Amino acid sequence: MSNRAPIKSVDAFAYTIPTQEPESDGTLEWHATTMIYVEIRAGGQTGIGYTYAHACTAALVRDLLAGVLTGKDALQTGARYAQMVAAIRNNGREGIASMALSALDVALWDLKGKLLGAPASALLGATRDGAPVYGSGGFTSYDQAQLAAHMARWVGELEIPRVKMKVGREPWRDPRRVAAVRESIGPDAQLFVDADGAYAPKQAAELARRFAQSGVVWLEEPVYHRDLQGNALVRSLVPVPMEIGNGEYGCSPATFAQILAAGAADVLQADVTRCGGFSGFIAADGLCQSQTRPLSSHGAPYATLHAALAAKSLRHIEFYYDHVLIEQRLFDGAAPPKRGVLFADPTRPGIGLQLRRPDAERYAA
Ligand SMILES: [Mg+2]
Repeated sequence: MSNRAPIKSVDAFAYTIPTQEPESDGTLEWHATTMIYVEIRAGGQTGIGYTYAHACTAALVRDLLAGVLTGKDALQTGARYAQMVAAIRNNGREGIASMALSALDVALWDLKGKLLGAPASALLGATRDGAPVYGSGGFTSYDQAQLAAHMARWVGELEIPRVKMKVGREPWRDPRRVAAVRESIGPDAQLFVDADGAYAPKQAAELARRFAQSGVVWLEEPVYHRDLQGNALVRSLVPVPMEIGNGEYGCSPATFAQILAAGAADVLQADVTRCGGFSGFIAADGLCQSQTRPLSSHGAPYATLHAALAAKSLRHIEFYYDHVLIEQRLFDGAAPPKRGVLFADPTRPGIGLQLRRPDAERYAA
């Protein structure tokens, strides 16, 4: 194959950003978020990408995947993706290796956009100018008053008519917390809940019945994500029109195909920073088209935007609290949504983001 833009260098940096206060969901507690930021240089341009993963992911980029990419053609994103997938085989297709690969795939699409002078969404085949978002946060670490105010802010101040809260840490309290949030956001906003795998299947079905009384229309990962039969059982038991969302940990098309085949999701979720970057997200979109199922993105909204603008099955982007704070603080070009819709700036090539290096370096891990 020709090589019009040989890759000169690949770099990776880890930044650990503390949360404003300790946070938790149904199954995890944390007090900081680590971003792995990558750069790929070719043809006088620099492509950027990132993922949220342990700092060791940066070493995997530098020690393994940089060598796979260096010297190869930056424009042949499909070949670069396939070679990275082949190179991580012995390190595990699902997990950190795919998160490294995902950051690099996004950087390759950003680089291609800069080399060709076009937004990444145009190169991917844009289907829309803006993508709807839903506000996502509502941690289980918040007391009820804090939770209600936090959720009301998405709908009121930020004008986003869809919001998601965490459940599952103290299941017996969940119906009351959900009812309090419904009261705070008013009758019209869509309300989603995410259990992060905390429930048992029949417990989830019973709680879903009670959540439905507060107008909950989306129950995410009710039981452990690898328990596809358990998730499918819950999906068969929840009241109509509640939908089950699943897929945020998927790293490969094979995993998404298994979730869909098991009937474990009404809406497939895919995370650009885990599922293979834009290449993997568009593959997940193809699987959704094959089953006429909607696709919703997970995490990292500003890394996701251009792939979401291209995905034909897209329903919405998760506008996740922790990641929004980090991305709006560290990147130029991370503009807020307008009335619940996130738009790309058509004058910016690639993914339209630029790291504010001095701000990021304060958090060097
Ligand atoms: Mg989730």
